[in-house]
Amino acid sequence: MADSSIPLIERAKKHRERTAIATLTGDFTYDQLLEVSWRVASGLLAGQKDLGGQRVAFLTLRDFDYPAIQWGIWRAGGIAVPLCEVHPPAELNYTISDSGASIVVSHPDFAETLTPIAQNRNVRFLSTEQLLGADRRTLPRVGPERPAMILYTSGTTGKPKGVVLTHANLEAQITTLIKAWEWRREDRILHVLPLHHSHGIINVLCCALWAGAVCDMLPRFDALGVWQKLVDGNATLFMAVPTIYFKLSETWEKSTPEQQQVMSRACRRLRLMVSGSAALPVTAFHRWRSITEHTLLERYGMTEIGMALSNPLHGKRRPGHVGTPLPGVAVRLVDEKGTPATPGASGEIEVSGPTVFKEYWERSTETKAAFRGRWFRTGDVAVLEDGSYRILGRKSTDIIKTGGYKVSALEIEEMLRTHRRVAEVAVVGKEDLEWGERVCAAIVLEEDAALSRQELRKWGKERLAPYKAPSSVVFVKSLPRNSMGKVIKPIVKKLFGS
Ligand code: AMP
Repeated sequence: MADSSIPLIERAKKHRERTAIATLTGDFTYDQLLEVSWRVASGLLAGQKDLGGQRVAFLTLRDFDYPAIQWGIWRAGGIAVPLCEVHPPAELNYTISDSGASIVVSHPDFAETLTPIAQNRNVRFLSTEQLLGADRRTLPRVGPERPAMILYTSGTTGKPKGVVLTHANLEAQITTLIKAWEWRREDRILHVLPLHHSHGIINVLCCALWAGAVCDMLPRFDALGVWQKLVDGNATLFMAVPTIYFKLSETWEKSTPEQQQVMSRACRRLRLMVSGSAALPVTAFHRWRSITEHTLLERYGMTEIGMALSNPLHGKRRPGHVGTPLPGVAVRLVDEKGTPATPGASGEIEVSGPTVFKEYWERSTETKAAFRGRWFRTGDVAVLEDGSYRILGRKSTDIIKTGGYKVSALEIEEMLRTHRRVAEVAVVGKEDLEWGERVCAAIVLEEDAALSRQELRKWGKERLAPYKAPSSVVFVKSLPRNSMGKVIKPIVKKLFGS
């Protein structure tokens, strides 16, 4: 029996003949995905009736194997723990050990790294090739309340925590986006994001497969390759993080006027381009619009809650804002005491509803601390302006308390970015006896540009309230970023002394 009780997989039967996954080496139908994931599930079960929530850590290439293995784990009753291909062995080992994975699945390309980890931990090691061709066996029924996936958070502070998402969570996270962004089976999305993070897994891959659309997977992100694919392909959708839009803009600017025309025209064929996972600088929003005529749709979300806020598909998208709550997602702003913030005041974002995760894996204290009743405390601070939310940043790293004022690092970054010689900027607060915290800025200058600290501080003081103007400035060649392109603020902080 190959019946599945998982809605995402059940739905695939409606689109059997259609292409599900397109790769550089070939296209794969929904039927193939159903068939191969059945084999994978059978191979994983190896005679057991149900994996019963065993964790299966897996690392594949960015191609058809990924959904085939992911669906196989789910169909066998396991919990999928996707690994990140650019993580060093120590981090892979951490994820495998923290999740208590009993099986590690690896593409042969990663076997050299993963085999010793699996051996040391005494867990089953299976190659993707072995699983994809396994004999089909009866599969268990898997209910919506069962955990489907553990995703490890970026861990900018402390050790990464495993976010447990149930099948019901996944369904809620997928369907809210299907509705809000009007996904349909005629869609085709170009997938260039990492596959260990919810942006790439849920917003792109799972939504495409839920809709019966085509997910066009590129083996890796490289700006020229993406442009080429946009020009040659027939994508209708694109979703990325701000750094990717930054790199694509840079490549466009370095192209000849003829190439630029072709590239811009190609983008105009898409119906929607989305940005998220980090604040989209207003400068990047305008730059992309002038290149492609696309008004990027910025949304806000988090591994623990999926997507919560989004600019509208139809209607005005405001730069620097993340819009309104998505269907079925309840959002509120609260003050330090948990009382709803007064209109116009900033507050911490709290979210509740079926998209909110079940728990942090084996961390009951952290799970408890992350909730206020039914509300998940995101740790992000925002303000509601004319009906649209604006993110001020993470409470822990972006809200700087200086001289009795609370200032948003993101706001200061926006202002500093408008200096024509500034390419990138990260603002942090550094403990200070006199001020509580000092505003410090790490700056990457435009190519061949020169600017002194004094000039920049003077410029800042003319445009920002005195307590917001950075008192310390360092110039760096690049900012430290994680695999999602997010600036790692604790590392930036170290640039200003310990
Ligand atoms: P992750 O769980 O890795 O997706 O990271 C979620 C965090 O990214 C949120 O808690 C926010 O701090 C940040 N984030 C996501 N989207 C946005 C956005 N559009 N603007 C500002 N910050 C964002």
